[in-house]
Amino acid sequence: MNLEDFELIYKNDRVEIKDKKKVKAKLIDILGEENVSDDEIDIFAYSRDTTLINTNWTLQGVLVSKPDFITWPETREQITGILKLANDEKIPVTPFAEGSGVVGGALAIHGGIILDMKKFNKILEINDTDLSVTVETGVNGMNLERYLNAKGYTGGHVPQSLYTSSVGGWIAHKAAGQFSTKYGKIEDIVMGMEVILPNGDIIEFKPIARASTGPQLDKFFIGNEGTLGIITKATLKIWPYPEKRGLISYAFPTIEDSLEATRHILRQQIYPAVMRIYDADETERHFGHIKEAKGKVMVVFVCEGVEKLVDLEVLITRETCEKFKGVDCGEEPVEHWFETRFKVTDTSSTPTFKLVFDTIEIGFLWDKAADMYHSVVEATKNVKGIVLITAHVSHFYPNGVGFYFTFAGVPPKGKGDFEFYQEVWNTIIKAVEDAGGSFGHHHGVGINRSKWMPVEWGKSFETIKAIKKLLDPNNILNPGKIYEDPWEKGGDN
Ligand SMILES: Cc1cc2nc3c(=O)[nH]c(=O)nc-3n(C[C@H](O)[C@H](O)[C@H](O)COP(=O)(O)OP(=O)(O)OC[C@H]3O[C@@H](n4cnc5c(N)ncnc54)[C@H](O)[C@@H]3O)c2cc1C
Repeated sequence: MNLEDFELIYKNDRVEIKDKKKVKAKLIDILGEENVSDDEIDIFAYSRDTTLINTNWTLQGVLVSKPDFITWPETREQITGILKLANDEKIPVTPFAEGSGVVGGALAIHGGIILDMKKFNKILEINDTDLSVTVETGVNGMNLERYLNAKGYTGGHVPQSLYTSSVGGWIAHKAAGQFSTKYGKIEDIVMGMEVILPNGDIIEFKPIARASTGPQLDKFFIGNEGTLGIITKATLKIWPYPEKRGLISYAFPTIEDSLEATRHILRQQIYPAVMRIYDADETERHFGHIKEAKGKVMVVFVCEGVEKLVDLEVLITRETCEKFKGVDCGEEPVEHWFETRFKVTDTSSTPTFKLVFDTIEIGFLWDKAADMYHSVVEATKNVKGIVLITAHVSHFYPNGVGFYFTFAGVPPKGKGDFEFYQEVWNTIIKAVEDAGGSFGHHHGVGINRSKWMPVEWGKSFETIKAIKKLLDPNNILNPGKIYEDPWEKGGDN
């Protein structure tokens, strides 16, 4: 199958480059021949990220994005050069890191230039006194963590996509790792950054522990999804590699009991690095072999750090679980979690079985958490064609939680995969927004959630749109994301 055999279903606002030869020659001037491609094989490779509906589309011979050029800059000056050219010629530029994003953030839906950050992969400096590491942001997550571990540290940020994601992607999508309850989410970990603005200017937020020097503009670039600037360098917090790990698991009669137990652990200012609640269906799926957990809600914990503190954390975590009707299931479920925590083959192969499948992570405050869980499950079950809706809770705060829903279904007769996919997404997001939750916890907005941005942001959405306009008047940087609903005009016009 050749690239032209694929049907391009997303044509809204696609920028047609009049003189492609001229643009290619200019890109080669800036980057050198080896760092520019318009080969079919590269265009195809960069026409998708890991958004699951992409796999359904690929199997159906359909594309939503078809970039014109792929570039691999090696220096900041080259990035500046690409952005200046893009402004002159009004060509879209989409930053791309490892393409593990699951909401379509890195898809060049308006065409144009892909700016791949993989050659920005140097680990520049560890500062042991300050407990920080400075990196170029294209560095792969697992390469960084392995490097830190070998030197006696951990970065504390371990998303399930650790092997296939980069520091820049984490910052751009405001990611959260599996050990986040102790170490924080990426916005808690970033100490400083270098950013290249859409006009090519390079700005720097120097690494600090904290400052009171006006609004925190640096935070504004965390979660920008490649629409406000390209993050080229970052200084991140690191921690001494934990002396001890305590593995704990308890099964609870209901989701309510498990939520109460975990909430009370946090109220005592105990922060196990890992806390994960699996609803009864997910408990059956992941821990079906654990006798004590049959028909129950499994919770796994990992306490880690200095031995004496870990011992105390384990003691308080155990006491609290038992107070809320938890049944001790031992270390085995946690060991099983460690062994399988990066495995996604079951879920990523669902499109080959003609299933429409995805995950949606959302944020609730504690007082609404249990009710919200039930209303999302009920609302989703009512979508015709749904065969599975389950959840786990993987991110915890003293004030709230991040739920992670998984759905699968077969579109009913007369409905296409994407129509069904959007119906489920919209149903879940509506249930969350109606109850005052947040429709995205850590995967970002991309093309899946933009439609709901005005609802989530209210009047402040106008402010963020005005800032985008100010920084990027030609709308060259990752157009079609965050500030507009790319599907408003339908997919194919
Ligand atoms: C199996 C699997 C498990 C996952 N688990 C988790 C998880 O546990 N936690 C979690 O938070 N996410 C998870 N994700 C989602 C994904 O890995 C994250 O969103 C990740 O942060 C994306 O990083 P990336 O390097 O692949 O970025 P990409 O997908 O390449 O890009 C993501 C977005 O960032 C922009 N971008 C990339 N680099 C830069 C840069 N340097 N400057 C500016 N913009 C940039 C792109 O334009 C795009 O909008 C998972 C995904 C998969 C497939």
